Amino acid sequence: MLLIDCPHCGPRNEVEYAYGGQAHVARPEDPYALDDREWAEYLFYRDNPRGDYAERWHHTGGCRKWFNAIRDTATYEFRATYPAGSARPGTGPGPTSHEGVQP
Ligand SMILES: [Zn+2]
Repeated sequence: MLLIDCPHCGPRNEVEYAYGGQAHVARPEDPYALDDREWAEYLFYRDNPRGDYAERWHHTGGCRKWFNAIRDTATYEFRATYPAGSARPGTGPGPTSHEGVQP
């Protein structure tokens, strides 16, 4: 069982969550200014790193709020979770709880 630390509810079983893709993907300010390739890149292209990756998660079985997480894609370890709309925290060694993460 994997525990994911919802920034609103605390640690809960992974089955309560739904994955929402890459975090911090900003919608273009003027979508009509994009050509087809740029629009397709916004819609479909995402980073695919080995290591720390900022992701969106939805606590579907709990508070039903979206939040962001930094997860190591190689080990599946969650390094931090933080509320949606907050800046990505540093990902160095440190607490994995939301209590130690600065927005
Ligand atoms: Zn929650």
